[in-house]
Amino acid sequence: MALRLFNTLSSQIEDFRPLRDREVRMYACGPTVYDYGHIGNFRTFVAVDLLHRFLRQSGYKVRHVMNITDVDDKIIRNSARDGVSVQQYTAKYEKAFLEDAAMISIEEPMLVRATEHIPEMADFVAKLVEKGFAYRADDGSYYFRIAKFPQYGKLSKKDFSGMMDGARVDFDEYDKDSARDFALWKAPKTGEASWDTAIGSGRPGWHLECSVMSMRELGESFDLHAGGEDLVFPHHENEIAQSESFTGKPFVRFWFHARFLLVEGEKMSKSAGNFFTLRDLVLKGHKPSSIRYLLASVPYRNQLNFTFDGLKQAAVSVERLRNFRLRLGSDNFSEGTNPEMQSLATQAIERMTAALDDDLNTAQAQAAIFEMVRQANAACDAGAIKKYDVPSLLAALGKFDEIFAVLDDDDAPKIKRVLDWAVSEGRDKDITDEVREAIQSAGLSDADIEKKIDAMKAARSARDFKASDAIRAELADAGILVEITKDGIRWRRK
Ligand code: AMP
Ligand code: ZN
Repeated sequence: MALRLFNTLSSQIEDFRPLRDREVRMYACGPTVYDYGHIGNFRTFVAVDLLHRFLRQSGYKVRHVMNITDVDDKIIRNSARDGVSVQQYTAKYEKAFLEDAAMISIEEPMLVRATEHIPEMADFVAKLVEKGFAYRADDGSYYFRIAKFPQYGKLSKKDFSGMMDGARVDFDEYDKDSARDFALWKAPKTGEASWDTAIGSGRPGWHLECSVMSMRELGESFDLHAGGEDLVFPHHENEIAQSESFTGKPFVRFWFHARFLLVEGEKMSKSAGNFFTLRDLVLKGHKPSSIRYLLASVPYRNQLNFTFDGLKQAAVSVERLRNFRLRLGSDNFSEGTNPEMQSLATQAIERMTAALDDDLNTAQAQAAIFEMVRQANAACDAGAIKKYDVPSLLAALGKFDEIFAVLDDDDAPKIKRVLDWAVSEGRDKDITDEVREAIQSAGLSDADIEKKIDAMKAARSARDFKASDAIRAELADAGILVEITKDGIRWRRK
């Protein structure tokens, strides 16, 4: 089976085939850098990252471009309010976004910034005017004339036949019912940032930014365009109108939209007090790997209900996978292979791939690896794993982690960075005891701990239990729990 994906444009699950043989060209709408990213934003970015990783695992060369929206209504308003330039205002949040994305192991796509492409955007508008799809208003703003694009509404499935020709809207975001000529280019307002260009001074509208930058990097027609479900209208609808009027060709083959997440069953909002940035969660003592795992656990088209119980459960799941890997590395297995373990590993890989091929069913892919771990742990307890089964089981785990990226135990240094940031921002009071505890073990790498465990083992073989207990106590102080079982010594970070 090959990948099948839901396409918002056709409202159907289709076989995914790129326009060029083994290369996928994809564009994801990136963050508007006017504040710290919240978990809803990262739900969408994780979904896109999973897609990218799975396409690569499936043998495609992936060209993945993401924009940084560093000029839009909100940014202009906030930078004018704070009396700083747009660049000064956005630099801080762009940096924070990239750090946060890396913290939850999102691979960095190729980045493009709106403010670095202003002259091209102005040229694009000029060409649309020339072709009769855009016009200049008295104040020097330019609008797209949607009456000239009869397919307007084909993505959002809205019937706009009764719309008023010439009615205009110049907000970047607006209501579904206002199908109006939208601003491509906005004339300068006092106190706001603007650029002098061939079509006059002003600044680009948000929709225009994505059309120009995506086609510049990926060509006039490319394979996939992604974002959260709120972007279907007006943003993506407008991108289609602009781009297809400009080129006369289909703009994008597949439209990929992630469903909005809820927090404890409610829409996330600052006023409801259920609004969380990634950093908020880390300061509450949650690990980046648990957050990534939870955000990845619900298939992208299903509603993810983010709960703190779910987050704790995710931490347990990640821990179980990491412990299993350690167990495979640390136990002594007898020579030989067990065909049952070999087929267990093969089946796990097959089931994971089949799940992800099925419109990225991440929940089933996770279930497949857990089934393998459950059966392999039982086999290990019964002494039924042989030496040459280990690489096969590790390969299945590795395949899983190429997509989910939670196995490396690198949470502690990441948490430490958030803690340092909180201190530098004067947010010390938000640092919980849980997070302080969590980073106590930060100074010890896995290799350091393994060394100490080896020393414990040596002490125990020499029946020097006092020395062994002393090492165990030292590890406990550093936040490492050590468990002595009949199969050997296991450890985990608290
Ligand atoms: P923004 O920074 O507002 O431009 O949004 C960045 C990305 O996050 C876009 O793809 C949005 O569609 C997406 N997004 C915003 N809120 C949520 C949410 N609650 N759940 C899922 N995705 C979201
Ligand atoms: Zn966009």
